[in-house]
Amino acid sequence: MDEARTTGGAGAELLRRRNAASVLRSLRSDGPASRAELAARTGLAKATVGTIVGGLEESGVLRELEQVRSGDRGRPAVRVTLEGGRPVGVGFEANVEYVAAVAVDLAGAVRLRRTRPVADVADVADALCGLAAEVAILLAGDGLVPVGATVAVPGLIEPDDRTISWTPNLPLAGTAVAEGVDAAFGWRDRVRVSNDADCGALAELHHGAGRDVEHLLYLTGDVGIGAGLVEAGRLVRGARGFAGEVGHLLLGEPGAACGCGRRGCWEASVGLHALLERVGMAELATPRETAEAIAAAALEDPAVRAGVVASGEWLGRGLAVVCGVVDPSVVVLGGYFAPLGELVLGPARAVLTDAFAAPVQVAPELRVGALGTEAAALGAAERAVAGVLAGHTDLP
Ligand SMILES: [Zn+2]
Repeated sequence: MDEARTTGGAGAELLRRRNAASVLRSLRSDGPASRAELAARTGLAKATVGTIVGGLEESGVLRELEQVRSGDRGRPAVRVTLEGGRPVGVGFEANVEYVAAVAVDLAGAVRLRRTRPVADVADVADALCGLAAEVAILLAGDGLVPVGATVAVPGLIEPDDRTISWTPNLPLAGTAVAEGVDAAFGWRDRVRVSNDADCGALAELHHGAGRDVEHLLYLTGDVGIGAGLVEAGRLVRGARGFAGEVGHLLLGEPGAACGCGRRGCWEASVGLHALLERVGMAELATPRETAEAIAAAALEDPAVRAGVVASGEWLGRGLAVVCGVVDPSVVVLGGYFAPLGELVLGPARAVLTDAFAAPVQVAPELRVGALGTEAAALGAAERAVAGVLAGHTDLP
């Protein structure tokens, strides 16, 4: 009897959470609405929507907007909008040159951002855990409550979304990163780990250069190169979650040495270090600063310009293969590609346009990312709030 009652209570709780999530998703994707409009959008009863809206208003996640006339008869309808409130998803990125953090609220607004350069890759894990501890204190100071955290890393992650199985350019492995960030927030087994290109693709889709795109290929641009693929608005992950692992496909100059220990990988020809070697310039504190310096030098120096063109052509050759397989309508190029813009996209586009045999195959549009090096952390934060928006995680 007691057990049946408990089960019933848990079931009702689950249903309430799912219904609340449905209202939150509707407001996030389709904008402000009256209670009656929300009932029509979600298929929930008006009374149910009324109760959910009341509860969400109390927790500061929603607020009422101006009154609008609902017609000649009846009371004016009050529309509600997402306010964001106190719950935030926290996204982190661990990369070769930096660690970053972004916190996003339920309305999608960025509430905190921090980036720290890292001089030595051996220190990346410690730098990330230090940043997580700092972020936990800053969020608490602002009255914000983290509902989850995701760490974006350039590598392969096990299907448990927590265990790092392969990061050729970074000394990260196993669950140590997830456990370290868990500890910073006083959690157990809550932090998730995700591929950085998958996170970057989600960020550009929701916040950046891919907002109007259904079939998107996102390419990270750092020392390593990875792809995140969005098909009909959803992330494509593949059988083991390794879809988009394009950096170590043998699409580069055959002799070029790669961080993975082999030769000929695509990222050994189009990664940031390959470009630096071609143009004979030194690396600065961040990929953005380095790329901005190269872009400025290319305007003056034909040898630098030729190096950037060579990188762009290798980019186009690899993209021709990848795009021939997945047929995206738009390719968004993130990381160091963005400050170089047309200097690198132009030669890539020329190679790509010539690559297809059938006249009906049109090369995808190439765009630079709008979010820079923040993309992966922002997308990781989106993944961290996704649990609330899917009804899996309760609001604090
Ligand atoms: Zn490789």
